Amino acid sequence: MQERLIIRNARVVDPSCGDDDVRDVGVADGLIVPPSQAGGGACLDARGLALTPGLIDLHVHLRDPGQIDKEDIASGTRAAAAGGFTAVLAMPNTRPPMDNADALRATLARAQEFAAVRVLQAGALSIGLAGRELADFAALRAAGAAALTDDGRCVQSNALMLEALRRARALGLAVLDHCEDEGLAARGCVHPGELARSLGALPMAAAAEEAVVARDAVLAREAGWPVHIQHVSSGLSVDLVRWARSRGLPLTAEAAPHHICLTAEACLEHGTNAKMNPPLRGADDRRAILDGLQDGTITVIASDHAPHTAAEKDVAFQEAPSGIVGVEVALALCLGELYHSGRLPLLDFVGKFTTGPARVLGLPMGTLAAGAPADLTFIDVDREWVIDVRQFLSRSRNCPYHGRRCRGRAVATLVGGRWAWRDPEFDSRLRG
Ligand SMILES: [Zn+2]
Repeated sequence: MQERLIIRNARVVDPSCGDDDVRDVGVADGLIVPPSQAGGGACLDARGLALTPGLIDLHVHLRDPGQIDKEDIASGTRAAAAGGFTAVLAMPNTRPPMDNADALRATLARAQEFAAVRVLQAGALSIGLAGRELADFAALRAAGAAALTDDGRCVQSNALMLEALRRARALGLAVLDHCEDEGLAARGCVHPGELARSLGALPMAAAAEEAVVARDAVLAREAGWPVHIQHVSSGLSVDLVRWARSRGLPLTAEAAPHHICLTAEACLEHGTNAKMNPPLRGADDRRAILDGLQDGTITVIASDHAPHTAAEKDVAFQEAPSGIVGVEVALALCLGELYHSGRLPLLDFVGKFTTGPARVLGLPMGTLAAGAPADLTFIDVDREWVIDVRQFLSRSRNCPYHGRRCRGRAVATLVGGRWAWRDPEFDSRLRG
């Protein structure tokens, strides 16, 4: 049930208004209210915890419908809640794909019934994500699509992508792009160099991504409509986004935790559990992504949560599916690399998970303003813990971080005034 709640002495970190100070927050009827209007409910002692707007993950594969041996709406969103997320944008490359209104409506109806957090569903740009014929964007929007992307694939025709941007603009729908020139990618799956040879896998040149990032900057200007670049992996891609933004071109970009934390060498240690698309790249690329997050070129961190079964991953590198699970560890990993390292103050860090994604979608989320839905994340930024994949709430375990020491994690999430997840130790803070 919905909580009436007074939260005492939280460190309130709200990038939507630049707030970072200790104060009380009230929750009543599913909304954030002044503490004086939340009387008669429970009292929460949040001393020592950061309280942020509910985190939003702009890039999640829930595998539902069609591949529920990997994940489903219930398991994926429970994992997201445990990771501190109160909303996820689900990618449309399900089976069948979300390229028509009926399929999308049915998925959102199941989410209404089974999801632990808000599920925003992306529709496909093209029928079957095949890049030949555009989906019916108006019908997708009417069915509840929150954005459009062919993630996993990439529309290869510049003319078709321009037409997609024009139609999306007319409907006010955000467009997200998995940037990959399929010719340049040439079936590659690993950063070029000695590593590719020792893994016996085909190299994927960074140019496959960079050429499409540059293309998208040009098309965004031509259409007068933004493109959001998904999971940047290369330093030149970051440079291109920085250049485009400095010219006033409407480009935004996200980075995934694995490109923030790891380089291609991780493939030697972790094998197919370090195989992703785009692949992990060099130390210079990783540093450029960190710099891009620090200087505001990259405004979003998104997990690219991509569950696969152990059997699917237990094959030769070239044959294995791409992706790793991420929603339960994204916040902790990035706290270490960006906040505890001193690269970003907590307020700017939290913005990558709240105001950043909310602006991409054009949705009034990611704020603790009075009257907003009570989507809240409680974070113990100093909690030390060790990642144990056996404890994941996700249905899958494909993850290269098992045994990694972390500092900081979400300890509770509230969605629309209802608890979506609470750490066992958190309950001792609740009274009444
Ligand atoms: Zn992708």
